[in-house]
Amino acid sequence: MKILKNNLYILRLCFKAAPLCVCLKVLADVLNHVINTLIALYFMRYIVEAVQGNKSYREAFVLILGMFAIKLVASILDSIGYHVVERIASVKTSALLMEMLYGQAISVDLSCYENPKFYDSYTKANEQITRYAHRALYLATHVIGIVVSMVISVYAIAVSEPLIIFIVVIPVVIEQTLVKKYTELKFNRDRDTTYERRQVEYVNRTVYLQDYAKDIRLTSIFTPIIKSFEKAIDSMIKTSKEYGIKIGIVRFFRTIVSELFVYLGVQSLIVYQYLANSAYSFAELTTLLNAASEFSSLIGSFSWARNDIYQCGMFIENFRTFMAYETKMPENENGKSVNVNNTDIEFKNVGFTYEGSDTPVLKDINMTIKKGQRIAIVGHNGAGKSTFVKLLMRLYDTTEGSIEVGGTDIKEYRLSEYRDIFGTIFQDFKIFATTITNNVLLHGNVTEEDKRRAEEALKASGIYDKVDSLSNKMESQLTKEFAKDGVMMSGGELQKLAIARVFAKNSEICILDEPSSALDPMSEYEIFENMLKACEGKTVIFISHRLSSTVMADKIYMLEEGRIIEQGSHEELMKQNGKYAEMYNMQARKYKEELAYEA
Ligand code: ADP
Repeated sequence: MKILKNNLYILRLCFKAAPLCVCLKVLADVLNHVINTLIALYFMRYIVEAVQGNKSYREAFVLILGMFAIKLVASILDSIGYHVVERIASVKTSALLMEMLYGQAISVDLSCYENPKFYDSYTKANEQITRYAHRALYLATHVIGIVVSMVISVYAIAVSEPLIIFIVVIPVVIEQTLVKKYTELKFNRDRDTTYERRQVEYVNRTVYLQDYAKDIRLTSIFTPIIKSFEKAIDSMIKTSKEYGIKIGIVRFFRTIVSELFVYLGVQSLIVYQYLANSAYSFAELTTLLNAASEFSSLIGSFSWARNDIYQCGMFIENFRTFMAYETKMPENENGKSVNVNNTDIEFKNVGFTYEGSDTPVLKDINMTIKKGQRIAIVGHNGAGKSTFVKLLMRLYDTTEGSIEVGGTDIKEYRLSEYRDIFGTIFQDFKIFATTITNNVLLHGNVTEEDKRRAEEALKASGIYDKVDSLSNKMESQLTKEFAKDGVMMSGGELQKLAIARVFAKNSEICILDEPSSALDPMSEYEIFENMLKACEGKTVIFISHRLSSTVMADKIYMLEEGRIIEQGSHEELMKQNGKYAEMYNMQARKYKEELAYEA
């Protein structure tokens, strides 16, 4: 029942995506099946009847001609149906399904991406749904045609020899059980190789994605990767072998039952009845033999189609499971609105442990950040700085304690509205394959005012001159994914572009999570200065493990192993002569040495 429901679910989506194409496809399939059955059943009979004088030649000729005329129309519809209508329906449905998948994928919790079970379900839903949606549509129209043809054949048989129907039904029932087993085995084989297919897909990505191209060429990192690939392939072969034998045996019995019982059994009975009992005329014999043969092959087709429908239903289930995934952090439609005039932040005994890990990444974080303050969070790599930002932006929820903004627990706010008060650049920010303007504004409905804002932002982050020198200026496409003449920028330039996003958004709270790692300390200092100017009156939180810019902060928090170990202004911390001072002095020394070396 569930299987049928799943097929109907996807058919509804196909119809929603391309209603006209679906109707045309049903028409073409049904007409083709019906006319093929009618020709198989009555072509010979009309000829025999004409020869025997039971029908005039003229009547037989008109009937046969009529059937072939319909066949001609049906064939044309079928060809167009297959190459045009079905193709268009398939592309439109795929687009609809992929958009649904993307919508769901971008709304699920960030933590899902660290969960292998979630990733498997996403992979399964993603890689198979368009193929199976297309298949479900093909099968549905095919089955409608088969059923109509079956009714015609059964009628033709039942009027002369009702017994045949019973002979056919018994093996069909046996076969259905085998079909179920067969499909289950195939589904389980696919399920048990999902993990390996995901591994293969990863290796694939490392080869075609530009992100990996340099490392792969310059190092031997591909050697262990290809070894993992070979291991995954071996494991897939082993699983396929295990299932292959069982699948083969079931398939063998299916063939025996459907072909031997149905075909030979029925044909023998008809011929016996005709010869021994003169049960019907020669004309009837031709129809009966053809109807029996047609019926048996229709049962075969139906059985395969049913098998495929079952399989489709199971794969569609993957898609539905994924679509039904409910985020742990829902939008909270009825949540409170943020009062932008009061965005004081308070961390109260905050602790956090990533899912699947036992080690807390943040512990006992207590902190108050007043609106308009400039805060620096510093510490060595792995200290927990980025996690701190993710918690503040509610990409994850705290596992201990709470965070308040404007005196309200951040969980009580409407999520999208809450996240909108932040302008953030992450350490691992991404540039998208679209125009520079869109990349700065991070949306696509650009007004003239937006363009002006983007231009100002690019000027503030110090990359405008470069952008202005490009032939399409701010409308230049970045990367070559969607434009052959797409612009490729250097790491430092891209960082400046990402920084422009914060300037353009003009948010209440600006966060820079080590966006300047590709810049030298002087450029970093310059950017922070610009940034602070642009964020006048706003709260600024910058995360860094380089301390050249922390001098500008009102207050600095130093993290180590997830705890705040020191806090205060730059001067205070230097006077304290603790870990911060040690880190600062070391970096200053190193930078001076580098300068001397370059000189
Ligand atoms: P920082 O920004 O200071 O370099 P992070 O907040 O990125 O530090 O990481 C703090 C710790 O949390 C590190 O030990 C890191 O390995 C771990 N960590 C970061 N992200 C995840 C994650 N998604 N799952 C599990 N552990 C993580």
